[in-house]
Amino acid sequence: MKGFFIQAMEKVDIKNFTLEGLETFLLGLGKEKYRAKQIFKWLYQRGATSFDDMTNLSKEFRRELSLKSRITSLVPEKIEISRDGTKKYLFMLEDGSSIESVLIPEEDRATLCVSTQVGCAMGCRFCLTGTFNLKRNLSCSEIVNQICAFQGTDRITNIVLMGMGEPLANLDNVIPALKIMTCPDGFQISTRRVTVSTSGLVPEIEKLGSAITVNLAVSLNATTDQQRDQLMPINRTYPIAKLIAACRNFPLPNRRMITIEYVLVRGINDSFEDAKRLVKLLKGIPVKVNLIRFNEFEGCDFKTPEQDSIDRFHSYLLEKNLTVITRASRGADISAACGQLRARMEKSDIH
Ligand code: SAH
Ligand code: SF4
Repeated sequence: MKGFFIQAMEKVDIKNFTLEGLETFLLGLGKEKYRAKQIFKWLYQRGATSFDDMTNLSKEFRRELSLKSRITSLVPEKIEISRDGTKKYLFMLEDGSSIESVLIPEEDRATLCVSTQVGCAMGCRFCLTGTFNLKRNLSCSEIVNQICAFQGTDRITNIVLMGMGEPLANLDNVIPALKIMTCPDGFQISTRRVTVSTSGLVPEIEKLGSAITVNLAVSLNATTDQQRDQLMPINRTYPIAKLIAACRNFPLPNRRMITIEYVLVRGINDSFEDAKRLVKLLKGIPVKVNLIRFNEFEGCDFKTPEQDSIDRFHSYLLEKNLTVITRASRGADISAACGQLRARMEKSDIH
């Protein structure tokens, strides 16, 4: 058994390859480059879990592939379905770590929220994931396998990298995963329907922009450095002015907008003054603002805002001609907010 495990570990995980990477790998085996597209379609469009599924490849070729590489997949350890249809999967990884992904069905779309790290090093004070610290980055295959796991049963139209972790702190794996999501031979999801959310790693925002065209969401969450320093320690390294400048310089295709995420926390960042400062900060940048009610969790003293202050905040932004939506809390009955299922599993000692 141990021997088998070591052998398996030595094989390349084929889902860590972008299409180009797979082409190079196949050329190294003396195979034709075009085979990479066939294999990609099997993996990401037809959900193959074994090389034997790939019936348009010769038996000999399949055998060779399976000697050199392996196909990994994630099987949910636990599935929870909310009354509103939100579906949450908890996955156990090969090293025993756990991560989660959430599917949010809406009338005209179905959005999958994907994790990029086990835990998170950013330590935002309002975020449950932040309390776990960072255990490790997810590999490219662990990121794309979250999508594969839903694909057999659910239609996925949009992907957001807003689960556990800070995607821009794991660009080496996140960029190949984004390439697989948007590849015409991969998951075939339009770059307009893929969004990367960041707490504001300024140099990496630039790197992302030059590596691939996808949507950017920035978790701003405050309107003064004093406030943001308290909520998000990353602000001490990249204060608001630098972050806003990075947004201004982010290469946006025509008519696309940056999403500004703003978690409203009662008495901390939800005043009318905050709304005014927010409008000033965002002036001249093509943005849409997502107002998010703070989701309370055990061990955190912050409170969700009063409906009145949410309404006042929302109306002021609208009045100033900003595109704004207040996100309805989805999946509250299954604790679908960032990090909550994993926390519950850990508390109940299942992991
Ligand atoms: N690390 C990235 C992406 C994951 S966090 C980022 O910070 O953008 C995804 C979103 O969840 C962020 O906008 C964050 O501000 C928000 N969030 C975290 N904890 C929350 C909570 N308790 N209630 C509501 N939103 C929360
Ligand atoms: Fe990490 Fe995002 Fe949570 Fe901050 S909000 S701790 S960056 S996951």
